[in-house]
Amino acid sequence: MEKVKCLIVGGGPAGYTAAIYAARAAISPVLYEGLEPGGQLTTTTVVENFPGFPNGVDANALMTDIRSQAVRLGADIRRGSVSAADLSSRPFKITIDGQTELEAETLIIATGATAKYLGLPSEQKFRGLGVSACATCDGFFYRRKDVAVVGGGDTACEEATYLAGLCNKVYMIVRRDVLRASAAMQERVANTPNIEILWNCNTREVLGDSSGVTGARLERKDGEVFDIKIDGFFLAIGHHPQSDLFARWIKTDEAGYIITDGRSSATNVEGVFAAGDVQDPHYRQAITAAASGCRAALDAEKFLKR
Ligand code: NDP
Repeated sequence: MEKVKCLIVGGGPAGYTAAIYAARAAISPVLYEGLEPGGQLTTTTVVENFPGFPNGVDANALMTDIRSQAVRLGADIRRGSVSAADLSSRPFKITIDGQTELEAETLIIATGATAKYLGLPSEQKFRGLGVSACATCDGFFYRRKDVAVVGGGDTACEEATYLAGLCNKVYMIVRRDVLRASAAMQERVANTPNIEILWNCNTREVLGDSSGVTGARLERKDGEVFDIKIDGFFLAIGHHPQSDLFARWIKTDEAGYIITDGRSSATNVEGVFAAGDVQDPHYRQAITAAASGCRAALDAEKFLKR
């Protein structure tokens, strides 16, 4: 069975940065990228707030470069996802894609988070047929059409403004009478004439036929039920941390975010560290994920040298 000193799970900014630091620390990191190499950032277009890029940077190019940097420094980056983990004792036993088994002296969990859905059967029925959780991936298909974005956070505002550049009209379906988004994003929405915010509204049902989504049935707080005509229904209501595989061993909060000890990236299991969105319900930025990947690699290095 292959033995690995430092196993990193997750191919986002946290995982790749952990790989850079672990490679430079000569602890021979092996990283499995999971189903979405590059992580959530690859579902966006331009990143304007990553330091070092005065004119912004293409998100995919940024992730490709961080990955290449890790490879150049000696990280072994592989395709594949963890399918099972036994963290009851060290070395930890990890299964990749239900086949390959390996033993890891230390483990860095950087599996990120995935988009949440409302949980409506009709939403499920039209997934891929007009229902999407990624405007930058799928917005192209809705050029000059009418669409809706659910949510009132930064993601919803970002997706709505992105879609507004492509679509005829964008509704934002917001369940309260305020947006959660930052002031800058709110201003951007307010200054985009083809975005209309539907305040105090919840989605009862996604409407459609054999061709896909044709509308949505909404209910306002005052009880009024009404339909809007749309071709695309985009979810932007937050994310779910990808910690399920490790939850038997690793302590998480109620929402599933891995709990680290606060001062470091250490989890409740010695030799297991967590980095990026899987342990961060607050900041969730590429730069904070990268920084936490750095911390996790330094913590793993220190642990191995003990
Ligand atoms: P948030 O948790 O910030 O916002 C989620 C939004 O969805 C809220 O408006 C929430 O409403 C709404 N919502 C949640 N559940 C439901 C539901 N069941 N039905 C209807 N609406 C619902 O998530 P985001 O993904 O927007 O942002 C996550 C983090 O990432 C934040 O810290 C954000 O600042 C950051 N971010 C930063 C960006 C940037 O800096 N460029 C870009 C994108 C995100 P309510 O407010 O009522 O709870």
